[in-house]
Amino acid sequence: MTTYDAIILGGGHNGLVAACYLAKAGKKVLVLERYHTVGGAAITEEIHPGFRVSVASYSMSLMRPEIIKELRLADYGFEVYAKSPSYFMPFPDGRHLLLYAGDRERTKVEIAKFSVKDAANYDAWEDFWDRCCDIIEPTLMGPPLSIAALAQRFDDAGWGDDFRRLMLLSMGDLLDEFFESEYVKATMAPQSLISTAAGPASPGTPYVFLVHAIGRAIQGRRGVWGYVRGGMGAVTQTLAAAARDLGVEIRTSAEVAEVLVEGGVATGVVLANGDSVRARAVLSNADPKRTFLQLTPASALPADFRQRIEKHYRVTGTVYKLNLALAELPRYSAAPADMPPEVISRGTVDIAPTLGYLERAWDDFKRGECSREPFVEIFSQSPTDPTMASPGKHVLSCFCQFFPYAPNGRTWDDGLREEMADRIINKVAEYAPNINGAVIARQMLAPVDLEARFGLTGGNIFHGEMTPDQSFNLRPIPGAADYRTPLPGLYLCGSGAWPGGGVSGIPGHNAAQVVLGDLGR
Ligand SMILES: Cc1cc2nc3c(=O)[nH]c(=O)nc-3n(C[C@H](O)[C@H](O)[C@H](O)COP(=O)(O)OP(=O)(O)OC[C@H]3O[C@@H](n4cnc5c(N)ncnc54)[C@H](O)[C@@H]3O)c2cc1C
Repeated sequence: MTTYDAIILGGGHNGLVAACYLAKAGKKVLVLERYHTVGGAAITEEIHPGFRVSVASYSMSLMRPEIIKELRLADYGFEVYAKSPSYFMPFPDGRHLLLYAGDRERTKVEIAKFSVKDAANYDAWEDFWDRCCDIIEPTLMGPPLSIAALAQRFDDAGWGDDFRRLMLLSMGDLLDEFFESEYVKATMAPQSLISTAAGPASPGTPYVFLVHAIGRAIQGRRGVWGYVRGGMGAVTQTLAAAARDLGVEIRTSAEVAEVLVEGGVATGVVLANGDSVRARAVLSNADPKRTFLQLTPASALPADFRQRIEKHYRVTGTVYKLNLALAELPRYSAAPADMPPEVISRGTVDIAPTLGYLERAWDDFKRGECSREPFVEIFSQSPTDPTMASPGKHVLSCFCQFFPYAPNGRTWDDGLREEMADRIINKVAEYAPNINGAVIARQMLAPVDLEARFGLTGGNIFHGEMTPDQSFNLRPIPGAADYRTPLPGLYLCGSGAWPGGGVSGIPGHNAAQVVLGDLGR
């Protein structure tokens, strides 16, 4: 029987990144993925003949340039490009705001339409995020800092007040410090709420915004988001190709039933088909709840550790993803006359007109209801990537919040899925009336579907919320945040480890370094 140096439980992008780094260091590595293809939440699929979408994750910024370079992903066809405009915000009164990431002057002109004072403050806003990123970015590619050490770094730089703003304020309070226009505030708010069970008035939300502002995948430009040619599946297919070239063995449709424990040490895995495979290290790409509560024998972990993962680690699902095949792009009534749908739809379109709107969407969720007026983030890759749809046709994704995993008194049956898809499309139609007649096919993914399809416990897209209390050396829980776990030989290499979710590759990279240290390079 072959014994591996390392088994990677799960072939998400982080598992593949970990596999590549281990194999590059000469280790014999096996990846076991339960689904019929690798990729986890980063896959591209055809949802209707001729229409391909990034099924779950859809947009790129976070993948570390070091990883892209060291794994030579460009040689395997990895290609990213920026969205421009970055954002188009249509408002109910027919006005609009466009954002251009990395182009402050152009963005300021847009903001000045709503408030000259806000336009003047925009530099201060961007400078604030730059300072926070300057402190945190250099810490990403290694073991997590403690919150105290982080606060010290801010103090040492003379930016102690930024720590207060970033970690302790709500996004609403932070926005009040910089801006006066409700529309400008609403434009800046959405990224602070992504996959977070929180509204703009909830403390800790600025840190979620930072998570979305720190990426550099596109030409090293911080905070710029864009697309991967061929959709997000191209990320994981290129990683898999790189891994195979490095000698990694990848098995798909290979579900792990349990981590094998012998003499108090993880020594391999038992597959759902009963086979067992041995290795000196097991790296779990599955989320912490699945890893520790379902896949590791209870007797192999301290009871209080299991209890903290079960009771304290939050994996609230908030997202409903609706992927559409369209006969034509939405025509937004608020779009400027000189910007045809193909240009407007290059950017992210957010339906989130005021902070009050977002807070009300969250209020419904708090009561256990699906938001009556949801926050809808709209993406369309087909205007800039002809591989996604046939000429003249389009794909479009609506990433929507807030939708509970278990809405009061309802189950996510087909009736509820359809009802919510109608609700979302009707909301978009308030801004782009042609959308109702343009839909050819729709793929509906409620939180329970994200869990069933991708193995994301609770439907949480990040393997656990990314609030400050679940970040840095508190992720997933204090005392188990350096990729090692209380079970010797078992490591976490996915988004449940620092720095968390998003297609960054960082947890995979960092976990591999820790494993290499433990195994000997
Ligand atoms: C709807 C949605 C939208 C998102 N949008 C974005 C975005 O635009 N940009 C962005 O950067 N991030 C986005 N994210 C987040 C991002 O996709 C994830 O954080 C990231 O893909 C997680 O990668 P991972 O490798 O850590 O884990 P995963 O991708 O979750 O991979 C884990 C893998 O483990 C496998 N697995 C689990 N259990 C077993 C088992 N028992 N045996 C074998 N295999 C197993 C799973 O099948 C899966 O393939 C989004 C996520 C979702 C769901």
